Amino acid sequence: MKVMKPIIGAHISGGLSVCVENAERIGAQTMQIFGSSPRMWRTRMPLADEVAEYKKVLGKSSIKKVFLHSAYLVNLASSSPDIYSFSIQSLVDHLKIADVIGAEGVIFHLGSTKGGDRDEGFEREVLAIKKVLSTVPGGTQLIMENTAGGGDKIGAEISDIARLLNSVNSPRVKVCYDTAHGFEAGLVESYTKESVKKLFDEFDKKLGIENIVAIHANDSKTISNSNHDKHENIGEGHIGINGFEALASDSRLHDKAWILEVPGFDGEGSDKKNIEILSSCFKGS
Ligand SMILES: [Zn+2]
Repeated sequence: MKVMKPIIGAHISGGLSVCVENAERIGAQTMQIFGSSPRMWRTRMPLADEVAEYKKVLGKSSIKKVFLHSAYLVNLASSSPDIYSFSIQSLVDHLKIADVIGAEGVIFHLGSTKGGDRDEGFEREVLAIKKVLSTVPGGTQLIMENTAGGGDKIGAEISDIARLLNSVNSPRVKVCYDTAHGFEAGLVESYTKESVKKLFDEFDKKLGIENIVAIHANDSKTISNSNHDKHENIGEGHIGINGFEALASDSRLHDKAWILEVPGFDGEGSDKKNIEILSSCFKGS
């Protein structure tokens, strides 16, 4: 049986001027980049000539889809008025960058209530997401990523993400499923054909599988249900090659962009070898 392969790529470091080249060097067909420094609230908007040059290089490349990753500091569930408003502003800026460079959208983490009331946390998330979308009109997407859980985090459960997606009710709100985070959150004990089918049946039922636009394909250094987020190279962690073969066997995931965020075999980030290993999981299943 011939199996369709999804587009596979990686998180790529380097600014707009070099990321396309860096992505092509490892054979990526899709890439995720930071729009600005991920550890700062302040966002630097790219200059018009940087964008023009980037678009020229991208147009000639084999990269089909580009995603931005938000700053790590973003926490739309925060009860601190400062962190909340900085988070909204940071996402607004990143969504503007995504729009300017023609990216699909911005992938972001849902944050934590840090001990505060959970329902209020969800309300803050919904209001913030609506605010960001109305501030930056257009078609670019806000893409919610599931988390490894722990620490009052929002987004470890499928129902958390479904609750937000259904409450905001905008076609611009999408989902990114991180294979390591789902495993670490205990959504599966292991990825087998059966557990993968069950998992994505549940996604489909609760939020519509078509709303998942990206898969963060990462192995996990920690065990299932550890609530401890630590990525590993494909096949080197507790998910293992069998786990990725099981994920690859679900054809409902073949129209998603598969993006690696792994340490790399030489410790320099996602590399060609990881892309090749992941890619080989799609053969003959
Ligand atoms: Zn991720």
